[in-house]
Amino acid sequence: MVLLLKETISFNRALTKNSISTKQVYYFSMEFLIGRLLRYYLVNMEVEELVRESLAELHINLDDLLEQEADPGLGNGGLGRLAACFLDSMAFGGISGHGNGIRYKYGLFEQKIRNGFQTELADNWLKNDYPWEIRRADKSVVVKFKGNVQTECADGKLVFYHEDYEPVLAVPYDIPVMSYDNPSNINNLRLWSAEPVSNELDFASFNRGDFNQAVSLRSGVEAISYILYPDDCSRSGKELRLKQEYFFVAAGLGSIMRSFKKRNFPLGDFSRWVSIHINDTHPVLCIPELMRILIDEEGLGWDQAWNITVNSISFTNHTIMPEALEKWPVNLFKNLLPRIYMIVEEIDRRFKERTAKQFIDDVQLIQNTQIIADGHIQMANLAVIGSSSVNGVASLHTMILKQRVFSDYFRIFGYKFNNKTNGVNHRRFLLAANPLLSALITEAIGPGWKKNAEELENLLIYREDASFLEKLAQVKSHNKTQLVKYVKENQGSDLDSQSMFDVQVKRIHAYKRQLLNILKIMHLYNQLLENPNSLPGSHTFIFGGKAAPGYHYAKTIIKLINTLAEKIHKESRVREKLQIVFLENFNVSLGELVYPAADISEQISTASKEASGTGNMKFMMNGAITIGTLDGANVEIKEAVGEKNIFIFGLAAEEVLRYSSEGGYKSLDLYYSNQSLRLCVDQLVNGFFETAGEEFRVIFDSLLLYNDDYFVLRDFDTYLEAYKKLQCSYTDKKHWQGLSLFNIAKSGIFSSDRTIREYAKQIWKVNTRRFDSYI
Ligand SMILES: *Cc1c(COP(=O)(O)O)cnc(C)c1O
Repeated sequence: MVLLLKETISFNRALTKNSISTKQVYYFSMEFLIGRLLRYYLVNMEVEELVRESLAELHINLDDLLEQEADPGLGNGGLGRLAACFLDSMAFGGISGHGNGIRYKYGLFEQKIRNGFQTELADNWLKNDYPWEIRRADKSVVVKFKGNVQTECADGKLVFYHEDYEPVLAVPYDIPVMSYDNPSNINNLRLWSAEPVSNELDFASFNRGDFNQAVSLRSGVEAISYILYPDDCSRSGKELRLKQEYFFVAAGLGSIMRSFKKRNFPLGDFSRWVSIHINDTHPVLCIPELMRILIDEEGLGWDQAWNITVNSISFTNHTIMPEALEKWPVNLFKNLLPRIYMIVEEIDRRFKERTAKQFIDDVQLIQNTQIIADGHIQMANLAVIGSSSVNGVASLHTMILKQRVFSDYFRIFGYKFNNKTNGVNHRRFLLAANPLLSALITEAIGPGWKKNAEELENLLIYREDASFLEKLAQVKSHNKTQLVKYVKENQGSDLDSQSMFDVQVKRIHAYKRQLLNILKIMHLYNQLLENPNSLPGSHTFIFGGKAAPGYHYAKTIIKLINTLAEKIHKESRVREKLQIVFLENFNVSLGELVYPAADISEQISTASKEASGTGNMKFMMNGAITIGTLDGANVEIKEAVGEKNIFIFGLAAEEVLRYSSEGGYKSLDLYYSNQSLRLCVDQLVNGFFETAGEEFRVIFDSLLLYNDDYFVLRDFDTYLEAYKKLQCSYTDKKHWQGLSLFNIAKSGIFSSDRTIREYAKQIWKVNTRRFDSYI
């Protein structure tokens, strides 16, 4: 069947308009978390049932078959998933938009829980071959590392020769990207694999008897695309990471240049025909690499090359957390990329010259905006200086960029800054992931919402319709049963599908505050022991997410969740009302099962820390109700649904930022003044967890000794209040289903189709006939 689909795809690819006269967009991202493709394609082509029945005649169960497909874990979480949603929406919108990334041999580790702890297994996703990729050895590019740069003067011009470099062969593997209702626009996701330039061993070393040297050269090269760094939100500062970054940038730009030249346009018009988008700072070497190509290979002068570069490149910032802003030590950088370093130095020199003239007295601004400082290269600074557009991913985040993180740049280049609120592919996370809800929606308002998610708003006429709301409740109940079945089969635990499903699935990180959720559950537990009637109904708390293997604190949080789960399970007085499950190995496929089954969406990050969030949007379109802080896109979700249809609590971003800059927060004061909070915090270390010993001391210390960086204690009370209100709403079934319907109806603006329409018009300046017709 895959073969059949591939045939169709290559046929359609031939139909894809030869792109001579269209602008090409290249989306550079270190991560693409694309999820499984087979079922998604069947749904998009509207042949799933046909295929299911035909296979059944052959005694093949389609679902079993679908399970065979690997879910490529070529990303950590939100950032990589965003890139995948964008690929879909670009294909849907009729944009010639292509992904450029790395074909990691091993993706993000597979998570197993053993004795409550996370353990990591290698994700060998290529072990049975990957059917959707096509190796294109003929399109390989040589990437050059290390060596020396010789400068010569020829015809009065400086020319640069890169000598004694170590060549690495970048071999592309292409994955076709198709979307719904657009068979004549098939785009490409190009992932690069690193190989030795010659497929032979280094025979010089080999003949000298230096077998190790010969093998290690080879494996040193292959190491570049060997494995994805498993850190979400933190830079690793390792040479191999910088190698990966330059590798896919140089390979991608090499192949873009090659195809641009085939089109025979003047080089001076490059930015009219090509847009290069860089997803976070990881691909920011696109800026000096494009300069290098234009100057060293094409013979342009600096100024012309700079104009072309800046006009072609646009940049998305994804985080304001200082530990995630990439910096490279000058020595490491210079040694690995000598020519690129020279170009970065020159960009920095010229920029400082400009600011020194324009802001003569503002020493602070001149210092803050330089690229090279304290022996390090600041990649975000290079990105802002070398691109024509800088965007944040939600309105609050963009405001923080303008007012704080990049405030000096905002004074210099105000015109570059803009907001593009993230979105998610509603055809994957609603149409495909929630077939019953999709059928119900289509029955009610017709199929137009698949192409234009904003038509979901037409559902509002059913807000008071008891029979429709009842059907909505049945769909949710069915989806919960499906998840219960999955958990039983894969983890052995029995969940109660009649209980309320309260879900927090995302990477485990201090700023996302899984800890706040845990403290809430501990508090509910303590209350129930005192008063069995303190909580109406029964509750299942569902957690899922991976911790970076080196992030000890996050791993302890996982252990805490599992320890509390066990403690509750053993306590007969509460287990009818409370249950916790930690879902192993949260990934896109599991997400497709979880988002549709949730009643409650936990989006409780410390305000200002979550740039946008996209999980929040997936939950919303599947009818879950958000309890959350005014952070990231939660702010816009609240604006869309109104404050009656969401449960908001906690410090505002401004308050958090003010505390961080001016001080004044003392977590110990709260600990001493709030008895029920103190009880929960003490229980981390006082023997409440019989098996734990000192295991959770680091968490206790983070809250009291280190003054609770993420304001968990500060938001505890308001979180509980909001939770109580939510409980109340939930007990009124009809009211709750109305909330749910309202959230679905208002979720259309969070489709990545809307996001891509904005990127296309305002940043890339490409025509999108499809989207234009909606305006
Ligand atoms: C959407 C998604 C995320 C991002 O979730 P947030 O709640 O926004 O952090 C992470 N991982 C996977 C697998 C996803 O599908």
